[in-house]
Amino acid sequence: MNTIKPVFAESGTLEVFLGIDVGSVSTNVAALDKHKNVIAESYVLTRGRPIEAIQEGMQIVKDALPVNAKVRGVGTTGSGRQLAGVVAGADIVKNEITAHAVAALHFVEGVHTIIEIGGQDSKIIILRHGVVTDFAMNTVCAAGTGSFLDRQASRLGIRIEEFGNLALRSKSPVRIAGRCAVFAESDMIHKQQIGHSLEDITKGLCQALVRNYLNNVAKGKEIRPPIVFQGGVASNVGMKQAFEEALGHEVLIPKYHKVMGAIGAAILAQDAVGEQGKTNFRGFDGVMRNYKTTGFECDGCSNRCEIVEILVEGNIVARWGSRCGKWDNVGMQDDRDAPGAAKSRPGRAHAAG
Ligand code: SF4
Repeated sequence: MNTIKPVFAESGTLEVFLGIDVGSVSTNVAALDKHKNVIAESYVLTRGRPIEAIQEGMQIVKDALPVNAKVRGVGTTGSGRQLAGVVAGADIVKNEITAHAVAALHFVEGVHTIIEIGGQDSKIIILRHGVVTDFAMNTVCAAGTGSFLDRQASRLGIRIEEFGNLALRSKSPVRIAGRCAVFAESDMIHKQQIGHSLEDITKGLCQALVRNYLNNVAKGKEIRPPIVFQGGVASNVGMKQAFEEALGHEVLIPKYHKVMGAIGAAILAQDAVGEQGKTNFRGFDGVMRNYKTTGFECDGCSNRCEIVEILVEGNIVARWGSRCGKWDNVGMQDDRDAPGAAKSRPGRAHAAG
């Protein structure tokens, strides 16, 4: 969990734009002023409880903001962006490719390639002239993600924070099969058993992860500099070095590389709301309300869509998941404006939480 204190406080109102990025591993919140300076951030683990993670992250950011801060807009992104959009009252809900690209362009003008490696997925985004022209994601192979590195660090008995520095001290990195997590792990154990040093094994793992990324996620893409490396794994200096050696180019790591999706969402919110615009933000108190998620399978046709519902005090305030739009009528509307929102739905209930 990270927070920073506001870098400045203006007299009068400090206009703030919030971005929330809900992923399967972490939930990140960023607060930007109207000049797009980051004034507060939070990074909390999602732990399968996205609503609690959103609330915890928002509380951290609220506590870090000066008293004269006023939220003018909110954007959400990540796999839980729709949920976050409802909980916070988002002005814009955007996919993570767009949010990451917007944030990278903000910090590195003219960026051509974004390497993003998070806890459970990795992606590459190709930009030309400030526009996303191509992208690819890996959500299947564990060997190309941060959780794989975490697991190997734990197996080696080292803290993930030490991992990169150990790799930098390697004199003769071992070659570890990185095509799949199972092979990589057994190969690493074998290399450990025959006496290779921790330094050479950690460097070998970084190189294996980079090869995995370049052969799977980045396959067929032209990786042109400037190259920005973001996501939690960008903290690992061994990974930065391994990418630079493999690509033959400098790899840039933005200061806020862990929360770039949230920063992108905040910038998009500012654009969406505009200088004088009105925000849908529920307020920090509204975010802390007692939200519940439930769902059901629609039996209206053979698609059997999984419909997700969000409830506040028994009222459905949002619903999504239908391919035909049948259940989307509650949409993103604000429950304060819709006290009589539907309280029951046909279909087969299957979950509550
Ligand atoms: S939501 Fe629409 S598409 Fe999905 S199962 Fe129901 S009727 Fe079919």
